Amino acid sequence: MKALTNRAKAVDRRPMNFWEKIYLVAIFKGLMITIKHFFMKKQTINYPEEKRPFSPVFRGLHILNRDEEGRENCTACGLCALACPAEAITMEAAERLPGEEHLYREEKYAAKYEINMLRCIFCGFCEEACPKDAVYLSQTVPPPSFDRKNFVYGKQDLLIPHPKNK
Ligand code: SF4
Ligand code: SF4
Repeated sequence: MKALTNRAKAVDRRPMNFWEKIYLVAIFKGLMITIKHFFMKKQTINYPEEKRPFSPVFRGLHILNRDEEGRENCTACGLCALACPAEAITMEAAERLPGEEHLYREEKYAAKYEINMLRCIFCGFCEEACPKDAVYLSQTVPPPSFDRKNFVYGKQDLLIPHPKNK
């Protein structure tokens, strides 16, 4: 049968000679490969003490943005949740009350906003869908945890600090 590629290797079926039978040459060759790897540049790093530099287009943890006066940008329109292919975003909308104009930019705001980072695939669709400049993906990696609950980020975890409290 004609081979589709030239990558196929013919199997050598000749009987083994004396040196091949005692396997010493093969063992020595294997050891040389191991020794060679001792002196090669290590592919691993001592995380978290050492960190790899990320690409400029890396997408990590989300942040919820405020305007220059410190008011929350998000109006709980739900477009980010709708755009999310992993269904990782949930929110509850609330209406701004008189006297809360300094807290929320629009008449409606997200009383609850949650992102499940275990579902998120960091595609950035939520950021692209947002018409209010409210959600961004930062360059921060979610810290490791043994508890699944710690990967559900609430509004208090996502909101950037108020400019006056920085
Ligand atoms: S980055 Fe993608 S997967 Fe993650 S919350 Fe946004 S839209 Fe969903
Ligand atoms: S983050 Fe943006 S898209 Fe998502 S609910 Fe808030 S305003 Fe709408």
